[in-house]
Amino acid sequence: MITLAPGKMDGKEFVSHAPGYWPDIAPELWNDWKWQLKNRVTSLAQLEQHLVLSNEERSGVLLSGDKLALAVTPHFFNLIPRDNPGDPIRRQVIPRIEETWESPYDMADPCGEDSHMPVPGLVHRYPDRVLFLVTDRCASYCRYCTRSRVVSGVGEQELHTDFEEAFRYLEQHTEVRDVLLSGGDALIFSDDKLEKILSRLRAIPHIEFLRIGTRVPIFLPQRITPELCAMLAKYHPLWMSVHVNHPRELTIEVKQALERLANAGIPLGNQSVLLAGVNDDVETMKTLVHKLLMCRVRPYYLYQCDLITGSSHLRASVAKGMEIIEGLRGHTTGYGVPQFVIDAPGGGGKVPINPGYVLYHDNEKIVIRNYEGKIFEYPETGGDQTVQFAPQREYHDEYLYS
Ligand SMILES: *Cc1c(COP(=O)(O)O)cnc(C)c1O
Ligand code: SF4
Repeated sequence: MITLAPGKMDGKEFVSHAPGYWPDIAPELWNDWKWQLKNRVTSLAQLEQHLVLSNEERSGVLLSGDKLALAVTPHFFNLIPRDNPGDPIRRQVIPRIEETWESPYDMADPCGEDSHMPVPGLVHRYPDRVLFLVTDRCASYCRYCTRSRVVSGVGEQELHTDFEEAFRYLEQHTEVRDVLLSGGDALIFSDDKLEKILSRLRAIPHIEFLRIGTRVPIFLPQRITPELCAMLAKYHPLWMSVHVNHPRELTIEVKQALERLANAGIPLGNQSVLLAGVNDDVETMKTLVHKLLMCRVRPYYLYQCDLITGSSHLRASVAKGMEIIEGLRGHTTGYGVPQFVIDAPGGGGKVPINPGYVLYHDNEKIVIRNYEGKIFEYPETGGDQTVQFAPQREYHDEYLYS
């Protein structure tokens, strides 16, 4: 076990918070993922039993319940301090009245997924890969969830995944080589149910690559049993993207769950959402990526928060995201630097957003800036007519002058 001296940085050390608010619970129950799910905190009364709520939170719980359910596993709930409503963990899972506010840019389906669904539950936006929404349930619910229109089952829309239709579509579409299981959270299924889906996908010869996007290892590390890992290992190559936003989410239990997955040969990536008051500063993100690397997880994406209705209080600026990347690249391990992306509103897919390291580029030279701000020149080979820069510039001009 790695233990680090507690320093100034919030949450660099791996700690366990059990039993926390559940002092009387037997360890066998605590470690049983079904007990964790059954005993989730889902009501105002349960919240008030443990926390001193602010007015914003209390009204948030009462008024936002028909948009996205409240549910927090006991494991994750133990990370929430009794008093501080501004706590970065608390802001992610406890509703606030701001969720009922609408800002002019807010959308119910910010990534335009519904319009890219050839079959209910299957989003086919990119040429060679699909997003397969296998359930609308999660272990706990994130207040900024980009799919809150369907997730948790209380919102305005319902997810009706047609599994047979989806498998038929995938069989017919030989260009699909990568299937990403998401939802909701696929790891909420029993081993058997999940295995039925994985084995069915593996029976399709052109599907080379399987991955699961999940927050279960963080919300419910007890779910990552040796049996689950052994089952998943039968379907390699299978990769996993987990979702951690703040270093304190990486507890001892979560670290051990991630190690079990890594030991089953599953390459692990992390997707973080840039969130105001949660992780919108360089030091917090640096601590997070260092802890992820210690858990054998490679930071994959940092997402600009989607324009989901009721999330404006959690959205940080794009400039802040770029500042964070700038503060990581060169300053720490390259494996620890995620790609910052905006999922283009309306359905354009993920677009990489990078700090400006290219200062000038023509067919004679490129002028670049390093992490310290020093400027360098590299000669361009010239004469390569197959590489074009112009379209971007033309589009840019059109965009500016139209
Ligand atoms: C994010 C996403 C993917 C996977 O994208 P990668 O960049 O390959 O990780 C696939 N389909 C949809 C609809 C997505 O939103
Ligand atoms: S775990 Fe993922 S799908 Fe579930 S509520 Fe959080 S962001 Fe949404």
